[in-house]
Amino acid sequence: MLACDDDGGSTAMDASTGASGSGTSSASASGSTASGASSVTGSSSVGTDSTSSDATGSGPGESDTVGSTGSTGGLHPAFAEFDADNFTIMLDGDEVVLESNGLPNHVSPYWSNTTARASPDGMGPATPAAKEDHPLFVAPTATSFDSMAPGNIDDFMGSFELRVPVAPTLADTSTATGLGPIGMAVSGSMIYNDEEGPNVPLENAVGSLDFTAAHTGPQSYHYHLEPKAWSDDDDALIGVMADGFFLYGRRCNSTGDYPDDLDVSGGHESTTQHANAAEYHYHIQNDAYLNEYYLLFPGDYQGTAAGIQ
Ligand SMILES: [Zn+2]
Ligand SMILES: [Zn+2]
Repeated sequence: MLACDDDGGSTAMDASTGASGSGTSSASASGSTASGASSVTGSSSVGTDSTSSDATGSGPGESDTVGSTGSTGGLHPAFAEFDADNFTIMLDGDEVVLESNGLPNHVSPYWSNTTARASPDGMGPATPAAKEDHPLFVAPTATSFDSMAPGNIDDFMGSFELRVPVAPTLADTSTATGLGPIGMAVSGSMIYNDEEGPNVPLENAVGSLDFTAAHTGPQSYHYHLEPKAWSDDDDALIGVMADGFFLYGRRCNSTGDYPDDLDVSGGHESTTQHANAAEYHYHIQNDAYLNEYYLLFPGDYQGTAAGIQ
């Protein structure tokens, strides 16, 4: 922020203001002050919906296959967990529109900092030092400055949009995920699959992942593995996949344990902390990857995926 004071460059200013704002709100309780306005629609819909979904549960029960909220047309209560500073979430007819600035609401060594990084193994550009550390910067632990991928989180000035059905349904056939964003995490950043690039297995890039299994890439900061920043062997909401189904941590709230009825994509139908009626959702599968990690979403979409633009 101080770095922006001299010229008042609008985009840089916006980005760093937004980023530090999100840091403030995640560290303290001030999230409902300034940027609350943009998410008022989402929050109030969520509030309304939690009431009406109770009514649905004991009411017509027409949507007990997938989604307790389908018949109400309201915003699913799980969307209340998405970072209010980094996301704008709106209802548009029978679709939910998620817009994200791509920035995570937590610390990382990938925020701009005063340590310049050389081009890693000659791949990608070098990353110059910033004048000061971003407020959410922390020194690398799981990775090192020498192993980190090129680019910093706050270099990203774009945005992402995803439109999913209010009440997603299972498709007749599953479809493979692709490179790039395949889901949106509650933090604001994107979810990727188990490949790093065309013909580049994730194994080759694991050394560049930070403590929460994320790194920067050709586009923005993204997660490949269980994100320890907010989920570690628990039932936390991870995010929403591009087919509209939610992704949870390794445990299911319905039992408190690892589900034993998951399909090939890590999905099953049960209640969650956000749904009193059973609904389809995914889990991070409790299968160790490289003996110590858990892949976020190595399988196919079981619903109909929309593109994340
Ligand atoms: Zn990656
Ligand atoms: Zn579950």
